[in-house]
Amino acid sequence: MFLGHYAVAIGAKKVAPKTSLGTLFAAAAFLDLVWPVLVLAGDERVAVAPGATAFTPLDFEHYPISHSLVMSVVWGAVFGTVYFLVRRDRRAAAVLGALVVSHWALDAVVHRPDLPLTLGGDARIGLGLWNSITGTLAVELAMFAAGLWSYVRATRADDGIGGVGLAVFVLFLLVIYAGAAFGPPPPSANAIAWSDMGQWLVVLLAAWIDRHRSLRTA
Ligand SMILES: [Zn+2]
Repeated sequence: MFLGHYAVAIGAKKVAPKTSLGTLFAAAAFLDLVWPVLVLAGDERVAVAPGATAFTPLDFEHYPISHSLVMSVVWGAVFGTVYFLVRRDRRAAAVLGALVVSHWALDAVVHRPDLPLTLGGDARIGLGLWNSITGTLAVELAMFAAGLWSYVRATRADDGIGGVGLAVFVLFLLVIYAGAAFGPPPPSANAIAWSDMGQWLVVLLAAWIDRHRSLRTA
């Protein structure tokens, strides 16, 4: 899942209004920010297997450090704790921790049973929504529209970057999403990891645009 994680992040601005959208994006996408680093380091494995599911040709062979349920809770606790130590905002820290764990839960909806529960165990979870392209698009686009709507209502643009910039950013995310859904399969595991690193850029862009929008007080 890609857009669905951002949907939850952008919707979370309403419950953690003082937190940067970049931080919210980083929390919701955190497992996918760690994952390509581990793939490139050789600690986790992914393969290109066209037909693995209808939506994605990726075969997630081994990724317990980034994507096991147990580790998602650990990452969430670390993320929330670090945020709390820096910002002293208990509520926002809890929201961020929950966003990190939400990544695992949302991935469990779309992935086929390949998500580990623990670091070493054999149990794998996945409801397989990715077997349906229409179902995946419907769920993720609806989630994203709802999250974006909530964000646009909770904040207002201060200038062009906050206004037009947000529209361009949303378009950019939709184009990447369409590319993942309908584009050719990536050539190699390393290519997947490098393109996934692009999510770091998405986090920076979200932070930048959010600085150009203020909370609506009324
Ligand atoms: Zn993921």
